[in-house]
Amino acid sequence: MQYGPVALVKCDSYQNDVVDGAVNRCLELLGGIGRYIKPGMKVLLKCNLLSRRRPEEGITVHPAVVEALVKTIQSAGAIPIIADSPGGLYTDRVLKGIYRVCGMEDVHRRTGALLNYDTGVMEVSNPDGKMAKRMTVIKILQDVDAVISVAKLKTHELTLFTGAVKNLFGVIPGMTKAEYHLRMKHLNDFSDLLIDICEYVKPVLSVMDGIVGMEGNGPSAGDVRHIGALLISPNPYALDVVSASLVGLPLERICTIKSAEARGLCSSRLDDMELVGDSFEQLYIRDFKLPNSRQVGFLIRALESNNRIAEFLKVYLRPYPVVMYDKCVGCGDCARYCPPKIISMAEGKPKIDLNGCIRCYCCQELCPHKAVVIRRNWFFRLFK
Ligand code: SF4
Ligand code: SF4
Repeated sequence: MQYGPVALVKCDSYQNDVVDGAVNRCLELLGGIGRYIKPGMKVLLKCNLLSRRRPEEGITVHPAVVEALVKTIQSAGAIPIIADSPGGLYTDRVLKGIYRVCGMEDVHRRTGALLNYDTGVMEVSNPDGKMAKRMTVIKILQDVDAVISVAKLKTHELTLFTGAVKNLFGVIPGMTKAEYHLRMKHLNDFSDLLIDICEYVKPVLSVMDGIVGMEGNGPSAGDVRHIGALLISPNPYALDVVSASLVGLPLERICTIKSAEARGLCSSRLDDMELVGDSFEQLYIRDFKLPNSRQVGFLIRALESNNRIAEFLKVYLRPYPVVMYDKCVGCGDCARYCPPKIISMAEGKPKIDLNGCIRCYCCQELCPHKAVVIRRNWFFRLFK
């Protein structure tokens, strides 16, 4: 069986006309925007706007990609709305700061695209969900006719890869994400939750900003890496498979792909994807760096099993967060957003009680100063 199609197009720069051309070409390869968006529709662009970071930091989707999508949606006679609910508080003040720094206010000024400031939330029923039959989601979802997931090609300390499927965790409002992390401490459960969310949202299209991505300790403390590709697909799972393969990430270790495959939504073999557009081989990146926490594959797999020995070993062997005090400015974000609340602030600096740490790595993801690093213990280092 073939999954997709996935349009892959070479795109080497964020210059507006270059990105416009790449987005249009991808959509033409997929049958044209009119196949997915009808006139009069309200279309939510669920962008990965992880935190208040400038576009060149490679953490959030680039405004040139969002702008190209906005113009395409408008040309189809529909109304684009830019939205996200990053980790931390979900307030209009926080959103304003994120839109400004991430370049979305500029997109709004240039195109008239709406920026979502509705911070309401709602409970929804999700009867087909495996982990969540009921969910709390951002309210704007009920006011739109279609969703497009706009993701950034990056590594992730917890899930190895953050793509179009993981991006939709951002429809769970701010601090509610911490509750879900606490409830679904096991990676397999968390990844099933991500599939539940993706199946609930059912994006009509998913877009991968792989022009410049992030390798190493993503999603926020890694290194910026030029990749030179833009990808779009109506199938978010197939898009993730092709995007992760493009940078050589091991598909069998990406939990969302494994969970999607187990539910018959996708395959974890690149050969099963229907690829259209430019040559995969020519765009392939050979030496993309993995996150620190995910470099010893067989140990990670052993630790992800559900047995009691693994549960015991996990406490001692799983990579753990460490605060680099020379970089820490004492803002307290890590303590505020740590799901089990095991980070305390003492004399203006955070202290982590690793006994209660669920290894969700939110502290690393949300630290605005790259002051939290994920460290492997001696056993992992030995195998590395
Ligand atoms: S979020 Fe980062 S900078 Fe802020 S207190 Fe925690 S470690 Fe320090
Ligand atoms: S200390 Fe960091 S990794 Fe551990 S539970 Fe808190 S946020 Fe998650």
